Order: sequence, then C-alpha cells, then structure tokens
Amino acid sequence: MGWEENVRRVVPYTPGEQPDFADMIKLNTNENPYPPSKRVQACAQTAKTERLRLYPPPAADALTNALAKSYGVKREQVFVGVGSDDVLAMAFLTFFNADKPVLFPDITYSFYDVWAELFRIPYECQPLDEELRIVKEDYCRPNGGIVFPNPNAPTGVELPLDEIEEIVARNRDVVVIVDEAYVDFGTRSALELIRKYDNLLVVQTFSKSRSLAGLRIGYAFGSEKLIRCLNDVKYSFNSYTMNRPSIELGVAALADEAYFRETTAKIIATRERTKKRLAALGFSFADSKANFLFVTHPDYAAKDLFEALKEQHIYVRYFAKPRIDRYLRITIGTDEQMDALIGFFKRYMNK
Ligand SMILES: *Cc1c(COP(=O)(O)O)cnc(C)c1O
Repeated sequence: MGWEENVRRVVPYTPGEQPDFADMIKLNTNENPYPPSKRVQACAQTAKTERLRLYPPPAADALTNALAKSYGVKREQVFVGVGSDDVLAMAFLTFFNADKPVLFPDITYSFYDVWAELFRIPYECQPLDEELRIVKEDYCRPNGGIVFPNPNAPTGVELPLDEIEEIVARNRDVVVIVDEAYVDFGTRSALELIRKYDNLLVVQTFSKSRSLAGLRIGYAFGSEKLIRCLNDVKYSFNSYTMNRPSIELGVAALADEAYFRETTAKIIATRERTKKRLAALGFSFADSKANFLFVTHPDYAAKDLFEALKEQHIYVRYFAKPRIDRYLRITIGTDEQMDALIGFFKRYMNK
C-alpha cells in the first residue's frame, strides 16, 4: 500500500496548442483576431503598482458593479471568476451535488466531463441529433443538473431561446447552466430569463468577444440566491482569485461598447463570407452562430487537412474522438487570415 493508491487521479482537459511562430495563422482556440480595446492599453499604462501590495477586493467589486450596470441586473445577481472555466468549475462544485446524473450533450465543451470526473459527479451524455442539434426532450428526464453551451461548442449550433426556457421550466428542482462563451456572435442570450427562473445560471466570458483570453475574466448571472451559494463555495476555496490588474482592465474593456460591437460585427461578417467560400470548396457544416466553423469534407480526411495546414503554420483544431473525427474546428480570424486558409485549401485540392 503506497500513497499512490489514494491519489485523486484525473485525465486532464487538453487545451488547444499555443504555438509561437511569427508567421503563424492561429485559428485553433477561438481567440479574437483583433486586439483588445484601446482603453485597455490606456488603463494598463496608468496602472498604479503601489496598490499591488494589497490583496484585491474578494468580490472584484468594480468589475461586478460595471457588469451589473452594463447588463441591467443587480450586483447581487453577478458572480465573477478567473475565466469562465473557473466560474463553471465553481458552479459544478456548488450546484451539482445530487445522486442523479448531471446531463450534457455528447458532443460539447470537453471540460464538462473532466470537472464531473474531478468532483465525482455522476453524469450522462445526451446525443446530438443528425444535424448536430441539442434535443430538448432529452433534458426532461430525472437528473441532478443540466449544462450546455449556447451556441454549442464545437458545433456552433444555436438552441432557440424558447427551447432553453422549456428546459429550465421543466427542471425547476435542479440548476440549469447555460454556457454563453460565444453568445455575442449572434445568439440571443438567456439572461432575460433569470428574473423568471431562480434555477438558471448564465455564464459568459471576456475571452472571445472582448479579445481578452490572456486576462482570464469570466462571469455569471443568476438569482441572488444562486449567486450567494456560488460565492459561499468560492470563498471556501480561494477568496482572492481575481487580481487587481484584471479587475481594472476588465472594467476598461467593458466601457468600450462601440469597439465591442464593431469587432463582433466584423467577425460575424467574416464568418458568413467564409461559410460561402468553404461551401464552394465542397465543405459541409452546420450553421454556426459562433466565432468558429465546424467543417467536414467528403473527399478529404480531417486529420490530413489538419496536418497539412500545420506544416504551413496554419493552426486549426482537430478532435480525434468518436462522431467528430471527420471534422475540423476553424476559428474565424481576420478576412486576410481566412483568405490564406481558403488559398491553402484551393492549392491542396487543385481547384
Ligand atoms: C472558451 C470556452 C470557455 C472558457 O473560456 P474562458 O477563457 O475560461 O473564459 C467556456 N466554455 C466554452 C464552451 C468555451 O468554448
């Protein structure tokens, strides 16, 4: 009997590669191709380091207040964390504590089963249909909680708000988490439902639509009671998670609504243009509402395309998993970056 028998063993989440070549085109982790708002730069230049000797405010008040104001909710309905991964992990730990299984799609964000395993939460995956859609009826059976992204990842497929409401309404005895990491690229948020349903938690992030993956800011909206429960668990784990610079720079980013609208609109326009060009090359894909496309080609293996792209320092994401190993997930970059990608496909396919 050694200590190794009592170790908490986990198969960790595999994040996308973070290569570092000057000439690379990085379309593999759904980062934003545009820089953060100029207000973030300005704020960083005037930052006062003297205050770094003090712990940060545990509730990240300035950011919590700014989010509450910006989204028209009470500050007691806002929770912030170190990226939405931190928010989601805390939410799993707080709300998924039943003997019945937590439900999520079989093809979805691959962190959910990792947290479930880590926290020893029973779970059951519900298969997406042929068109890669979430089937709402699958979430109306006995369960210990529900979580899904909207739009879903890595498919980009949106679940209409009335179907989300039906899932939340038919599961009043558990918490339903809607992970809205990509909601700003053209999906209607479930935020408006939190007034009506105290069992709904809506999670969002600055990583994608606000070009701040490097800062690590995530947040959640829910009923005051739900947020109180989340904070109780967070303060029992690590009170000072969000550092002072992140709080200040996050407030600066949130204040620049015009830049946020401009850059998300540009990404949506590039996405729609890219859809047409990929379709013309014979790719097929579901109608993504996110800042990525999940594509497959009848004549070319996804893994071969992935490797060939990588040789050119064009990085996309390939998942060697059942049901999705014929697909590539391609992040929407700038128009120029997508032109380079399309140019590569044309050469590769001799078109
Ligand atoms: C990117 C992503 C997240 C995590 O983002 P953070 O950088 O931790 O805020 C959460 N959920 C989904 C579905 C994502 O794609």
